Amino acid sequence: MRGRQANFSTATQVGEAAAREEPRRCRVLLPLPLSGAYDYSIPEGESARPGDILTVPLGRREALGVVWDPLPEGDEEEPLPLAKLKPIGARLDAPPMRGELRRFIDWVAAYTLSAPGAVLKMALSVPQALEPPSLQPVYRLAPEGAERFADIRSTPARARVVEVARDGLARSASEMAREAGVGSSVIKGLAEQGVLERLEVAPRPSFDQPDPDSQGPKLSPDQAAAAKALRQRLAEGFSVTLLDGVTGSGKTEVYLEAIAEALRQGKQVLVLLPEIALSLQVLERFAWRFGAAPAAWHSDLTQAQRRDTWRAVASGEARVVVGARSALFLPYRDLGLVVVDEEHEQAFKQEDGVCYHARDMAVVRARIEEAPLLLVSATPSLESLTNVEQGRYHELRLPDRHGGAALPKVEVIDLKKNRPQAIEQLGGAWLSEPLRAAVSETLARGEQALLFLNRRGFAPLTLCVECNHRLECPNCTALLVEHRLTNRLTCHHCGFSQKRPETCPKCGEEGSLIAWGPGVERVAEEARLVFPEARRLILSSDTLHGPRAAAEMLRMIREREVDLLIGTQIIAKGHHFPALTLVGVVDADLGLAGGDLRGAERTYQLLHQVAGRAGREAHPGRVLLQTYEPRHPVIEALVSGERDRFMAAEAEGRRQLMMPPFGRLAAVILSAPDVESVEQAARELSRAAPREDAFQLLGPSVPALAAVRGRHRRRFLLKTPKDRLPQAYLKAWLGRVKLPSKVRLQVDVDPYSFL
Ligand code: ADP
Ligand code: ZN
Repeated sequence: MRGRQANFSTATQVGEAAAREEPRRCRVLLPLPLSGAYDYSIPEGESARPGDILTVPLGRREALGVVWDPLPEGDEEEPLPLAKLKPIGARLDAPPMRGELRRFIDWVAAYTLSAPGAVLKMALSVPQALEPPSLQPVYRLAPEGAERFADIRSTPARARVVEVARDGLARSASEMAREAGVGSSVIKGLAEQGVLERLEVAPRPSFDQPDPDSQGPKLSPDQAAAAKALRQRLAEGFSVTLLDGVTGSGKTEVYLEAIAEALRQGKQVLVLLPEIALSLQVLERFAWRFGAAPAAWHSDLTQAQRRDTWRAVASGEARVVVGARSALFLPYRDLGLVVVDEEHEQAFKQEDGVCYHARDMAVVRARIEEAPLLLVSATPSLESLTNVEQGRYHELRLPDRHGGAALPKVEVIDLKKNRPQAIEQLGGAWLSEPLRAAVSETLARGEQALLFLNRRGFAPLTLCVECNHRLECPNCTALLVEHRLTNRLTCHHCGFSQKRPETCPKCGEEGSLIAWGPGVERVAEEARLVFPEARRLILSSDTLHGPRAAAEMLRMIREREVDLLIGTQIIAKGHHFPALTLVGVVDADLGLAGGDLRGAERTYQLLHQVAGRAGREAHPGRVLLQTYEPRHPVIEALVSGERDRFMAAEAEGRRQLMMPPFGRLAAVILSAPDVESVEQAARELSRAAPREDAFQLLGPSVPALAAVRGRHRRRFLLKTPKDRLPQAYLKAWLGRVKLPSKVRLQVDVDPYSFL
């Protein structure tokens, strides 16, 4: 005790000395798209350390900011004199931002060429969470409460309350009243008499603690071996492992084991999913496995839920977070494992604001946190497979379905030989005779079937038969999609919608507009005509509004209240429907046309994933692909199941073209309200481009989406060798041109969309 006191006084003296030398200025990063951190002065007697969250004056208002790290020596610019700086304001009662998260923010900003403040904004997405939680009044027996009680008028109600309060625990007035079976006025009365004391406390933790050893299935030998390897990796700091296993092989069970191990070590775990709002089944599985629901993080949370979750992640109370890509930017206190499920999914790529790929940034975050990262997929991306092949990532394989369930048999229906028999009142037809027969047989056996078409709405095109006019969005270079469920024509890029006109807006002919091509609603209509008895359900982002609607639909499917599902890619992932034995892909060629670098890979992944919905339990599954190109490598690979061979061929093609993952791409997209300005800007940028031998700058070109939301667009594409990062070049180049404010410039490093 004496030793500690001695230390204490020394510390005070040292502290005083240091206070004189404490820096009187600091850099503060604001969650705004500014070029960097701003300098502020630290008033006498105050301190500010990197990570502190505080308010600072900004112009005439107050802004929120985070004290940022000093610039490395040599990078500092001529500092403003201290006297010119504005002083920092009050520190907020929030946990300081850890150095790991600050480094991550700096890293993401530098890689994506975004303003660091724009990235910080993603990490401070819940400003309310930075305010202290509002305190709640609670009551407990006062220190002399029992004695006091003896002095006041006793009633049976009062006596019961004192009896309850004798354990000394604090309770809210309503809780105490309920336990004692009295009205809450009795509690307040006793508090006024000094028998009970009133305290203000922070609200109770809202996240139950998961129990890693709660319950779990007995793993198969393959699964157990994979789980063991992952448990070992948890003790070894940063690493990346690709868990590559066929659909239904138990990948989820295996990574739940890795999560359990991280929990035993007292760490937090982040699981990223591509579309969390629809992944309630996964949340339920977590809840079952660990006896406590994980903290979910997605755009459908209420403000209060966001706030509670953010704080619980920062305090370490939320142990398992299951979230969409933005969960990468939460303030984990001690992250011990990151899992990216369905790692091949393009939904991990954010395309607006800060353009980042959550899978790739998860690698960065895991490295900074010195935690292992687990990538999970039945159809890994070529990027990840290549990293395995080149020895950068570990690999674990689960080659067989759990419980001996067979993989579904995939067959082709050649549409050239099996043209669907048109149905007059539908204006066409899209289900060929063999597919119709297979659906009938499946339904007759009392099993479920899925018709898959990755296109929302009724018809992708509305056309005038008189003048060939196509109805387009007034704001975008895009066709209006007919939606019968809402009876409107809608633009999928900007949300514009209008009633379907009676006459052609171009030639004025009445009743000349026809629907062209199918969307899921039209296939559902065809199904109604062909299988009138079947109970149908459309599953698309138009019918699955948020988690609750999704849960209800999934329940209906599981409890066999529907027979025939008609769905878009929203149904492709992760769901497990025991009675579903037939998958019919209405248009397997969709996605193969067009110049998308990853078109073939993505079509393979998507169709493989959809196929994996069939026959996951005792009944064998069957998959029918309707195609005009049965010899296409993607179709052949789906039929033969030779994924590795297909991906190897895909890799070879990209290697030859030096395309990702064997080269790098970065897109620069300009947009302006008028064509003239965007072209002018494109010309200027073109002229300013530095020459760099190994780099190739393509463009400016007019993208397929030449206009979006009333803004005209032009694109550049920079191609660099694998070993040369494009950021320095882009920075130098874009720094040379000052664009007028109406021209917007967006940089997309590692683009996934080429529209
Ligand atoms: P994947 O993630 O690879 O698609 P899942 O982990 O979802 O596979 O497993 C598929 C199904 O098999 C799930 O219903 C899961 O609960 C079950 N399953 C997997 N492994 C086991 C096991 N060892 N014991 C019991 N059930 C298992
Ligand atoms: Zn539009």
